[in-house]
Amino acid sequence: KYTGPSHDTMKQLRQNHLSSGQLTYYKDPISLCQGHMQYLYDLEGNRYLDMFAGIATVIAGHCHPKIQEATLSQMGKMWHSTNIYYHPSIHEYAEKLTSTLPDPLKVCYFVNSGSEANDLALLMARLYTGCMDTFVMRGAYHGASPITMGLTSLSTWFFNYPSASSIHKIRNADPYKGPYGGKACRDSVVQADRSCDCQPGQCMASEQYLEEVKDALTYCAPKDKIGAFFAESIQGVNGTMQFPKGFIKGAVEQVRARGGVAILDEVQTGFGRTGEHFWGFQGHDVIPDMVVMAKGIANGYPMGAVVTTKEIASVLSRALHFNTFGGNPVACTVASSVIDVIKEDKLQENAQQLGSYFLLELAKLRDEFEIVGDVRGKGFMIGVELVADKESKVTLPADQVGAIFEDMKEMRVLNGKGGVFGNVMRFKPPMCVTKADVDYTVAAFRQALTNHRERQAK
Ligand code: PMP
Repeated sequence: KYTGPSHDTMKQLRQNHLSSGQLTYYKDPISLCQGHMQYLYDLEGNRYLDMFAGIATVIAGHCHPKIQEATLSQMGKMWHSTNIYYHPSIHEYAEKLTSTLPDPLKVCYFVNSGSEANDLALLMARLYTGCMDTFVMRGAYHGASPITMGLTSLSTWFFNYPSASSIHKIRNADPYKGPYGGKACRDSVVQADRSCDCQPGQCMASEQYLEEVKDALTYCAPKDKIGAFFAESIQGVNGTMQFPKGFIKGAVEQVRARGGVAILDEVQTGFGRTGEHFWGFQGHDVIPDMVVMAKGIANGYPMGAVVTTKEIASVLSRALHFNTFGGNPVACTVASSVIDVIKEDKLQENAQQLGSYFLLELAKLRDEFEIVGDVRGKGFMIGVELVADKESKVTLPADQVGAIFEDMKEMRVLNGKGGVFGNVMRFKPPMCVTKADVDYTVAAFRQALTNHRERQAK
């Protein structure tokens, strides 16, 4: 039985002692005290189906027994920094992690979060190329440290504060709202727009968006060189925005042709979440020069990593570089058991099969409701964009989106919000969810959308 502070006490403590910048989705957020696999429990013992644990990093399920056992066992042996001494965990984990990645991505650098990992990737890229000019896609989220705030390109996350310089933001290749379309050319089981005339492997929209990349590279960097290009395999915070097929590959080719390095941020898309592949970039048929990971890497234990080539990694030997907790024995032990569990519990297969089913069930809602403008994603990385109507694609007003969220919570389903206007419902469940969980979520969402329709009709 729960014996800690009450919900109201926590509310008061929060007002007095916690930063008001903390993000919450609900008018009255839930107070949680326990998690087990796909479920979370509030102080009264009410159970919620957590369809958003993936964003908060839990990939295999809350308190997964095997991961829990590995963590506690290591905690009983040694907690320390592994940077001055050797410890088996970091060596074994580096070998295990890189065995999931193609050549030449074989050298790891461990940190504690996604922002730290992107900071480090930028540092290495700039040292390696000798060029500061860095390109990112508009709509990207790469972190919230002073440097990565400059890589992030979503106005909702901007402060009036100087961030990294020499960062150029390319017009987003957004197949739903972008100027050149491209919906049918997304890598997804849900193909909404069947009017596209593209031949397989030749997405016309991709080519048009690639002209934007060319334009940015032409105008914003010294003639002879560029630095890095960052992209998420699927933009997570920006509402599961999927690039049209061929776009990432074409962009990486352009970047390399100018001497730049390609960095793919797999903080949200890695570790089998997209189902078909272990890494999201494999769905784009590219091998980046650096991969950035965090969140799911250690099922909720703070950790991040950059994996790159031997040649790029060698730039850090030019000076000392230290991260006290990066790759500590507990983090590496947890992360190692996460890779085992993904394999043993067949989580990637579940993401592929059940994720595809989930997307197709959600696509039925798109056909039933005028406000469901777009259903997209891959595996267990799903976004549903809510609009005023399908024709105009105007964003559904925030109060109406909020009411749908509250209804989902009332039906004990937790999901996320995304997009620069917060009108994309995001589903990123722990990868252990079952068909019954997916069916319940779709039924709850259908009910919430019906409630919305009834409220608007009044
Ligand atoms: N990259 C991506 C794609 C992310 O989604 C996030 C977090 N939302 C980050 C980087 C930053 O990670 P962290 O919050 O661990 O710093």
